[in-house]
Amino acid sequence: MNRIIEQSMGKYTNLLEPDAMELFSQYGINTPKCRLTHSPDEAAAAAADIGYPVVLKISSHDIVHKSDVGGVAAGLADEDALRKAYGNILTSAAEKAPNAEIAGINVMEMAEQGLECIVGMNKDDQFGNVIMFGLGGIFVEVLKDVSLQLMPITKDEAYEMISQIRGAKLLTGYRGSAPKDVDAVADLICRVADMVQDNPEIKELDINPVFVYEDGVKVVDARVIL
Ligand code: ADP
Ligand code: MG
Repeated sequence: MNRIIEQSMGKYTNLLEPDAMELFSQYGINTPKCRLTHSPDEAAAAAADIGYPVVLKISSHDIVHKSDVGGVAAGLADEDALRKAYGNILTSAAEKAPNAEIAGINVMEMAEQGLECIVGMNKDDQFGNVIMFGLGGIFVEVLKDVSLQLMPITKDEAYEMISQIRGAKLLTGYRGSAPKDVDAVADLICRVADMVQDNPEIKELDINPVFVYEDGVKVVDARVIL
């Protein structure tokens, strides 16, 4: 069993985000630098190493949607902002998720904004492992614009998934907007499928969002359910 999964398996039903990010990195998936910290001093030291601006996120096995509990602060430019945000996140989480056991605060490199996309994986009793791809934000929440494929998946099928969504032009380019790195997206989908194939303990997975750039992609939020 993968060491990262083994640490949480049996004790928790999901991975903490820093662990999920490390697992993704093992599969060659681009993630922001991050570090789990347990005090404002530790967070400030981590941010100094990572480099400002940074993002702070609440880290708890009991909190699935971090923003919903005021658990995400992005674009922190210096140590003052970081220390304030650190306190605010803990206060807000204590109020909105009083029963959650807090593992710490994740200090994360602030990624440059890209086109927000999502990649997911679900286990269907009847069909097996299903991979999902879509555009993030309102595209998935309002328009349900996603495409699905059964695993195993070939690179060609990954490209098909991308072209099948109604909003595909946002990726391939339209009018003034430059084409995004579709190759990197197809590669990401295949790497996620490989990761799921190798680790049957993964029951469900959600990347929301991955930032897609003209050159490359970066996964900034990952949820792995065991
Ligand atoms: P939630 O658990 O609420 O989904 P996220 O980790 O997705 O929390 O963070 C909320 C939003 O903050 C993301 O949708 C993204 O736009 C932004 N964000 C998160 N992490 C980063 C990062 N490392 N760099 C830049 N923006 C980020
Ligand atoms: Mg998210």
